[in-house]
Amino acid sequence: MRYSELFGKTIKDAPKDEVAVNAKLLTRGGFIRREVAGVYNYLPLGFRVIEKISKIVREEMNAIGGQELLLSSLQNKESWKKTGRWESFDALFKLTSILDNQYPLGPTHEEVIVPLAKQFISSYKDLPLSVYQIQTKFRDEKRAKSGILRGREFLMKDLYSFHADEKDFDIYYDKAKKAYKKVFKRMGLDAIETQAGGGAFSKISHEYQVVAENGEDEIIYCPGGDFSSNVEISPVKEGKQCDLGHGPLKKAKTIEVGNIFPLGTKFSDAFGLTYKNKDGKDLPVIMGCYGIGISRLMGAIAEVHNDDKGIVWPEAVAPFDVHLIHLEGVASATFEVYKKLQKTGIEVLYDDREDVSAGEKFADCDLIGISVRLVVSDRTQGKIEWKKRTGDKTELLSVNEVLNRSRQTML
Ligand code: ATP
Ligand code: MG
Repeated sequence: MRYSELFGKTIKDAPKDEVAVNAKLLTRGGFIRREVAGVYNYLPLGFRVIEKISKIVREEMNAIGGQELLLSSLQNKESWKKTGRWESFDALFKLTSILDNQYPLGPTHEEVIVPLAKQFISSYKDLPLSVYQIQTKFRDEKRAKSGILRGREFLMKDLYSFHADEKDFDIYYDKAKKAYKKVFKRMGLDAIETQAGGGAFSKISHEYQVVAENGEDEIIYCPGGDFSSNVEISPVKEGKQCDLGHGPLKKAKTIEVGNIFPLGTKFSDAFGLTYKNKDGKDLPVIMGCYGIGISRLMGAIAEVHNDDKGIVWPEAVAPFDVHLIHLEGVASATFEVYKKLQKTGIEVLYDDREDVSAGEKFADCDLIGISVRLVVSDRTQGKIEWKKRTGDKTELLSVNEVLNRSRQTML
């Protein structure tokens, strides 16, 4: 992609109405633009990050047998009446159409997936089953000052699993926990698996919490990794010694990037979702649900991985593999490098601007935060200066050396 043609450009200062670090950095970098409070547009750079995050999530959900589908956003009011959530879900957008119909605008999809599953699950042979989607959700959040961490419209991955009994559910829940750990690790986040309240569904749930100064949640956790609880339900206080000898428990502000729940038969009961076992007996289906905040993840990464110059994307979710810059008088040689890199499948953002100073290009490169910076100039004498966003060390490499190195990190 040539920067001169890119839709969305960097800006020096964030708009005054953006207060959250993620919103300031992502707006300045040309990733997002606010539509109204709590609602954002994702520009090409931002959309590429969203797609990279989604790809990782898809791979790990497919690996645990999840089948991807896409459910409706306009939902059935009657289904929400049946579960009681038409009245009790406090952030529910209730839409009245010009034809005077009322629709819940999907904040979550149990009310859609369970009646749907009922059409296809009738026997123990149809179980277990897990389906998921990545889709825009709507919640009328009271406070929407955290940029894309808390949207009124946001992207979520939600998976729903269906089981014949508790034992089968437990096995799957454990698999999902492992998959969740992989998801967050692959995108450069250290997410702490945390015991949390189960809301209206269950006694407990598990949240995935990323330590961050501006997080809205708070956890008490063992630095050795064997205990973590949301302060809302924590049975212990900060400072208590960890039972396994890892020292005092710590308290930290965090961002909830994922949440998994045992649903038991709550929704199966509401919709009469049962199956026949081997003896022909009707039994309720046991369910679980598993959420990941896709757009919140992008915000969380920006909150955690940044410095005074801008965002520092982990390689796996950076919008491009390399950011190529040319300085004085080497435009055509650099264009050749650009084409060669692209030909081998490396994703290149090429700052091809002629009328912009070296300093300005370097500053934009740091602000956008792609993991590798490549510079071609008079002084690099036919070679390319290679530098990582995380370090200061520069190296002079041939085109082939750059290719080899980029390929290695892509693997
Ligand atoms: P919170 O406590 O932050 O309001 P929640 O517990 O209500 O979130 P869940 O219903 O568990 O959210 O949704 C699953 C995941 O979706 C969350 O773990 C979070 O990552 C993401 N998410 C929830 N609400 C929002 C929102 N308003 N904006 C962006 N992401 C969200
Ligand atoms: Mg939650």
